[in-house]
Amino acid sequence: TTKAQILDGKALAKKIQSDLQQKIATLEPNIGRPPGLAVLMVGDNPASAVYVRNKEKACSRVGIASVGKHFSAQVTQEELTAEIHRLNENDRVDGILVQLPLPDGLDSVALLHEIDPQKDADGLHPVNLGHLVRSETGLRSCTPAGVMKLLAEYNIALSGKKAVVVGRSILVGKPITLMLLEANATVTIAHSRTQDLTAVCRQADILVAAVGKPEMITPDMVKPGAVVIDVGINRVTDSDGKSRLVGDVAYDAVAEVASYITPVPGGIGPMTVAMLLSNTVLSYQEKMTI
Ligand code: NDP
Repeated sequence: TTKAQILDGKALAKKIQSDLQQKIATLEPNIGRPPGLAVLMVGDNPASAVYVRNKEKACSRVGIASVGKHFSAQVTQEELTAEIHRLNENDRVDGILVQLPLPDGLDSVALLHEIDPQKDADGLHPVNLGHLVRSETGLRSCTPAGVMKLLAEYNIALSGKKAVVVGRSILVGKPITLMLLEANATVTIAHSRTQDLTAVCRQADILVAAVGKPEMITPDMVKPGAVVIDVGINRVTDSDGKSRLVGDVAYDAVAEVASYITPVPGGIGPMTVAMLLSNTVLSYQEKMTI
């Protein structure tokens, strides 16, 4: 058997970041300031802290000024709302994101609704989700946009193909479904109530796993030659007590049957960050035209 080709999200993300860096260098003299991204983080969820740090590092690499706003878990909904309103009005801020999940007692959806849709770097505001439903331009949610970019980079044909998305979250499953549909794939969404998930997944030419269950997609669920996209990021502890990251796909075994596969880490994770930067620069660029 031949092993699947790796869809190298890490390499593509690097390329995208260097393109963004150049774009910023060209735009900055005209706009008179660098692009700005505000990252709101509440409490001290260790995974969130890592994500926020990675986003801030990526910003500084490409020349985006990141404004970290770190709040204690005791912050109120009203204080966060007021902060978002201030950032909406701040001319140096092009993108705003709220790192999820928020501690219990805070309403993340209500906060998302407060973000100016033109500064919605995560593309999760209902206005931007609505644009996606209508296939209009707008800020696209980062993880699904990253999946589409990676598929495009490897010239993977989608039109007329059968795609199966496992997971129906508003963060990943639903928007990726709409993007695949926009690319003329025939899309099925599977979820926790789906009957005979194996048979459903086996139909897929393109299989996207966005579940959050370590290595649940096994080779018997994959049609030989399918393209497998693993969105999952799960921390597991091995028998020797060491912890490591795995996806939703049993990588080694599935790589024996798939034609293309994304690794975890190094697949969709870095693409997500690249799309966040890209959205921020998109909002920044708009400043040129108004
Ligand atoms: P959610 O928990 O919001 O959604 C999980 C989805 O999987 C739900 O729709 C759920 O179905 C479905 N599901 C759960 N168990 C099963 C099962 N046994 N069989 C079939 N479907 C099932 O997760 P997210 O969408 O937010 O994230 C999914 C994964 O992607 C996580 O591992 C997360 O860490 C990762 N992620 C990675 C990102 C990246 O940058 N690479 C960004 C965002 C997320 P139901 O609706 O019926 O409950």
